[in-house]
Amino acid sequence: MNLIVAQLSQAMRLFLQTTRRVFQYAQMSECYACNQLIPFLKQHTKRAQSASRGFTGTLTSNVKPPSNWLCPTCCELLLTPTRVGCRQCALKLGPRVLNFGWSYCRHCKPTPNPQIKTSVLCDYIPPWSNWITRLKYGNEPEIAMMLADLLAHRLLLNKKDLPDVLIPTPISPEKLKHRGYNQAQLIADHLSKALNRPVMNNVLIKIHETPSQADLSKEQRQSNLDHVMLCREKLNPTLIIGIVDDVITTGSTLKACMSACMKAGATQFHHLAISRTPEPFVSIE
Ligand SMILES: [Zn+2]
Ligand SMILES: [Zn+2]
Repeated sequence: MNLIVAQLSQAMRLFLQTTRRVFQYAQMSECYACNQLIPFLKQHTKRAQSASRGFTGTLTSNVKPPSNWLCPTCCELLLTPTRVGCRQCALKLGPRVLNFGWSYCRHCKPTPNPQIKTSVLCDYIPPWSNWITRLKYGNEPEIAMMLADLLAHRLLLNKKDLPDVLIPTPISPEKLKHRGYNQAQLIADHLSKALNRPVMNNVLIKIHETPSQADLSKEQRQSNLDHVMLCREKLNPTLIIGIVDDVITTGSTLKACMSACMKAGATQFHHLAISRTPEPFVSIE
């Protein structure tokens, strides 16, 4: 009899222990950058919120706060507004350029026509670059939602003029078939909900396949991409067109998209991308 009671009490203890662990685990989510578990209750701590200091924009209810995606440390590291990029190509500006009060990098000159701005979430460096690899090659399309949410936070944090419409950078039908989705389109779809802006899918298309962009110089990339994009609808010149991409390496793809949109009437652009390859240019395409 005593043995049965002892066994029952041990079984009960084990059951309670397991239940508690399952319950604790269910309360946690994993940081998308460092993989540490984030206790649910810490997802909205003051420290996590301080990463969004200065944030004055209005986010729609569709946008998850950054602390739901990242642990407080990564959240602060990514979103503390210290990154200042070239207004036109988003290349991170160094302290010397900033001390002079310049807003353009050494490669860019302000162009009155078309008007171009570029905004990115971060530099294409670890651990953030891992997100793009997972999205493009790891068959994890759900990461697009996190990236779009974080980019939306960044845009509203910087209070830059938002684009009026979003157009994703197209990929070739072969790549689409192989990957099953266009990562730029996924990001644009989620950004559309986060920023409350319409997305124009299938308007910009790639009409020719191009050889791989890897191992090409900036000039070769540009000539490789000339005339490969086509905009199938007229665009209103008063609208700011937001061309959405995952990574900006040399900017050649965006220039090709912009050139096609200009032929369709567009005159103002605000390019949006998740990350920007820092100099020297490293190809990942
Ligand atoms: Zn983390
Ligand atoms: Zn620049």
